[in-house]
Amino acid sequence: MKTSFHEISLWDDVCDYFNHAASFTNHPKDILEMIRKCTSIYSFQFPIRKNNGFELISAWRVEHSHHQLPTKGGIRYSEFVSEDEVKALAALMTYKCAIVNVPFGGAKGGVKVNPKNYNERELENITRRYTSELIKKNFIGPGIDVPAPDYGTGEREMSWIVDTYQSYNPGQIDSNACVTGKPIAQYGIAGRREATGRGVFFATRECVNVPEDMKKLKLSAGIKDKRVIVQGLGNVGYYSAKFVQEAGGIIVGLCEFEGAIYDSKGLDVDDVLRHRKETGSILNYKKAKNFKNSSEGLEQDCDILIPAALENQLHEGNIKNIKAKIIVEGANGPTTPDAAGIFVKAGGLIVPDMYANAGGVTVSYFEWLKNLSHVAFGRMNKRFEENAARNMVDMVERITGQSITADQRTTIVKGASELELVNSGLEETMIRAYHEIRDIKLADKKITDLRVAAFVCAIDRVAVSYKNLGIFP
Ligand code: GLU
Repeated sequence: MKTSFHEISLWDDVCDYFNHAASFTNHPKDILEMIRKCTSIYSFQFPIRKNNGFELISAWRVEHSHHQLPTKGGIRYSEFVSEDEVKALAALMTYKCAIVNVPFGGAKGGVKVNPKNYNERELENITRRYTSELIKKNFIGPGIDVPAPDYGTGEREMSWIVDTYQSYNPGQIDSNACVTGKPIAQYGIAGRREATGRGVFFATRECVNVPEDMKKLKLSAGIKDKRVIVQGLGNVGYYSAKFVQEAGGIIVGLCEFEGAIYDSKGLDVDDVLRHRKETGSILNYKKAKNFKNSSEGLEQDCDILIPAALENQLHEGNIKNIKAKIIVEGANGPTTPDAAGIFVKAGGLIVPDMYANAGGVTVSYFEWLKNLSHVAFGRMNKRFEENAARNMVDMVERITGQSITADQRTTIVKGASELELVNSGLEETMIRAYHEIRDIKLADKKITDLRVAAFVCAIDRVAVSYKNLGIFP
């Protein structure tokens, strides 16, 4: 039984999932093979100055699928990054983009460093050198391959990437679109930072809003009062927990490196974060129960578990202890195939990663479009929108005979801000994709879980692209 992070190959897991799902499709073997394999793998090393000498850093960029271009996917900084992991994460990006219908192939980058061991200057050197290696080999560009943040990277690194790219490509008009997840002041987009967590929340809400599915789990429909445990208080976990809490869910447990806390009455996410900042740990928060062993936190009583940290957290060794009836995968690959099989067989429901955490790349798509068009959403057509809205309000008043208050009129006529447009676009995307996947599952009795349905959905869409493309030459 493989239970530790390092023993399990994420690439093998993704291939196992793929092969199983592929058996529910009618595509020829060679097309399936073309979809499953990675198109380009760039593995390289570069030196950076450290102390009085230098250090050699290992890095990767994997483009999994060129069925649509550019390819898209984050860059991960972690001491545990490996080629196996980057390949798997790149493949998940392909399927993720297909599921939420964003027109990208999948990619992923990895740099084998623990960011905590480097100062800001060194991290800047690493990021700029990594970017320059990608430029040299044509592994980055607005129409080629567009990185984004992932575990261990954020807006700061994306800003260094765009600046490095622009130094090599002066005057290139669309160069801001070479990377997404940038700070707003640096051509980023409102709502990108929260996007993955917001998407995880929409996925959770959509799942619990289906009364017949909840009935099978002996749960009431709706997010209100659902007891939720979240693993990871990084960008994804924090915002997932925050939006679930804002919608009336109860965050009963939080798990981090240093341990886990649990309080059946509920934890205030922002207050826990404040406590962590002050004391350096989530442990010893008010009256919450402490678990020094973080993974024990996952096994506490709740309705929904959101693993939003790293892969392989739920495995054969602990899945039977999980009390949650629903797992919403905020992280990529948090459940091993064996564990997922056991959980689903026992009647549990898994909302799979490649759908649940697709909010990030969805809003990245909006950012990319904004950069290519050089216009913020809701800006250029403001005057037009205002006129149209004013006419519409007048018409509604005339037809219904009811008057609209001055306040309502102002809100309607003002039109939507960039943030509102981003969030509503994200919400629409997550709702639609959930039901597309669920419908695939309902249409075939042999498809027992949403992950298989999600893979079938993705494989079908990528296969259509490859068939349309034909073969060059
Ligand atoms: N790293 C994120 C993911 O795994 C975002 C990717 C992107 O925005 O391109 O989905």
